[in-house]
Amino acid sequence: MEGAFDASMRAIDLCKERGIKVGLRFTLTQNNATELPQLLELMRARDIDKFFLSHLNYAGRGNVNRRDDAVHRTTRWAMDTLIETAWRDARAGAHREYVTGNNDADGVYLLHWAAQQRPGHVAGLRARLMAWGGNATGENIANIDSLGNVHPDTFWWHYALGNVLERPFSAIWSDDSDPLLGQLRTRPRPVQGRCAACEHRAICNGNTRIRAFQASNDYCAEDPGCYLDDDEIGIATPVPGAMAEAAPSVPATTRAWGPPSATPPGCWPTSRRVAGCCC
Ligand code: SF4
Repeated sequence: MEGAFDASMRAIDLCKERGIKVGLRFTLTQNNATELPQLLELMRARDIDKFFLSHLNYAGRGNVNRRDDAVHRTTRWAMDTLIETAWRDARAGAHREYVTGNNDADGVYLLHWAAQQRPGHVAGLRARLMAWGGNATGENIANIDSLGNVHPDTFWWHYALGNVLERPFSAIWSDDSDPLLGQLRTRPRPVQGRCAACEHRAICNGNTRIRAFQASNDYCAEDPGCYLDDDEIGIATPVPGAMAEAAPSVPATTRAWGPPSATPPGCWPTSRRVAGCCC
């Protein structure tokens, strides 16, 4: 929209003048990745408090962009850029915050960065990451839409756990008999492929299940957004059938999306789908 950038900058300035904490949010795709350094410089120049880098999650409107998701090399470059910027700030005494979301492999990547750069802090960082526990969909995150439907998080609008107009949220959320909530809250989560073999599952918790489903029609499949190599997840030999590269980097016409297949035995439920959902 014409003038949107200038209006946004003006809004940031007005918030800063009034002492309101301000953040920039950026969803990384192959098309906009090159703008990341400029945005970080904008953050520094305007003394903006917080930067949030979101990885693309293929649900809702994000599903339209999955072909443009950043391939793994670009994702790693973006993470290096963000971590180095945050580290430079920390050493300079600046108090800006850097946050990432929608890819819990980031915690493992940060741990590997620390092993190279700050080996004396690895044990403490690992303990903190394990206490954090990785993907929290259905546990520490919930979403209630405008109609009152409760979802495991903002990317699960096709799956309703109940409706707050019919039952209190506390009753819906504490009802572990829902098959999906039960699976999401199981530790370790019942995941397959590289995620099942990964030695860092306690940190990542199998990452984003909705992205696995959108890429493979299988909620328990490995997350195709994981950009760590086999060494980094502690796999000595490649997992048969593992996705070697970010699935969205492959032209859509060559991919076997196909119609939803039947859910394999022991896998995650697809019931309680919300009729007419755009996902
Ligand atoms: S392999 Fe799976 S569990 Fe391990 S870091 Fe990657 S996404 Fe997370």
